[in-house]
Amino acid sequence: MNQESANQIFELITNAENIVIVAHKAPDGDSIGSSLALYHFLSALSIDSTVCHPDKAPDFLEWMPGFSDIHTHEESSADVENHLNRADLLICLDFNSPTRVGKMENLLRNFEGKKVMIDHHLNPDLEFFDAYISEPPVCSTAQLIFEFIESQDKLESLNLDCAACIYTGIMTDTGSFRFSSVTSKTHRIGAHLLEIGLDQSKIHERVFDQTTEDQIKLTSYTLLEKLVIKKDLEVAYISLTQEELAKFDAKKGDTEGLVNRALGIKGVKMAVFLKEDVEIVKISFRSKGKIPVNQLAQEHFEGGGHLNAAGGKVVGKMNSALHKLVTILPNFVNKNKATFNEIS
Ligand code: 5GP
Ligand code: MN
Repeated sequence: MNQESANQIFELITNAENIVIVAHKAPDGDSIGSSLALYHFLSALSIDSTVCHPDKAPDFLEWMPGFSDIHTHEESSADVENHLNRADLLICLDFNSPTRVGKMENLLRNFEGKKVMIDHHLNPDLEFFDAYISEPPVCSTAQLIFEFIESQDKLESLNLDCAACIYTGIMTDTGSFRFSSVTSKTHRIGAHLLEIGLDQSKIHERVFDQTTEDQIKLTSYTLLEKLVIKKDLEVAYISLTQEELAKFDAKKGDTEGLVNRALGIKGVKMAVFLKEDVEIVKISFRSKGKIPVNQLAQEHFEGGGHLNAAGGKVVGKMNSALHKLVTILPNFVNKNKATFNEIS
């Protein structure tokens, strides 16, 4: 971590009167984990901050310490607007461009105070921020929060609530410490959190052992009826329409992990999950090795992300999204044949 940037950010924090922490829309374990970790750390230093997110996180993250203190624009826009109007420092976590906060975009663009970014995604919109830590190789923003605390020599202020949030962010963004983005540093951070008394198996249980009956039935239906394996392309995809989601009373987060089930199939090197919403079809891409699914998301699906995990969308219904995908897929696979062949 760049020490100068970290110092500059810490100085902005100590000079601020009113701090708001923001993360991207459609929250995940890392956006909630990094936001609440910073919130708890600042709180341990007797620095108040308010966490304002575009929308609510899935139920499986509700147990996280501080979760009920998060304000969402989706549920109370006036309240979030008030907080941003009063704030003089905005700390943007786990995203790197104002286009990633949905309906809060204009609030960020019109924000008059200082703006800080701490993030690990590619292609940051650096001009938008007054100070930043941008480290795409790092597995999670939660790891960056740990490194930030460490850089200020303040690990003694990292309490168990903060530790639980950092651990959850790292765990959920690394497929439980399995992706290639995990380094010895990541494990050393894990070791530190355990050494101060974190019960990590409880966190795994709280995040992963929460499957509802509807969810398991939706998963079973999806894998049995909706999984398409294109053997010649070494690609698998899954699609779910609004009607199908409604049939299983699908809630936010219920389809989490489906795309990884497709990627886990022997011989499959890239997987796609398409989920129909009211006006758009949201698409998740996952890959093995060096297959650059972020390029595919960026070039054809108004999205982006990491090399092995990216997302985007198609405006319209499932039919048109599927049509677009199957038209583009063979070209993408051909263009990236070398990276496909590298994977045994
Ligand atoms: P997921 O498939 O879990 O929704 O997203 C995987 C990753 O892709 C996210 O961590 C994020 O980096 C990226 N991503 C997902 N949706 C979008 C999008 O609409 N735009 C951009 N730029 N990145 C996205
Ligand atoms: Mn992240």
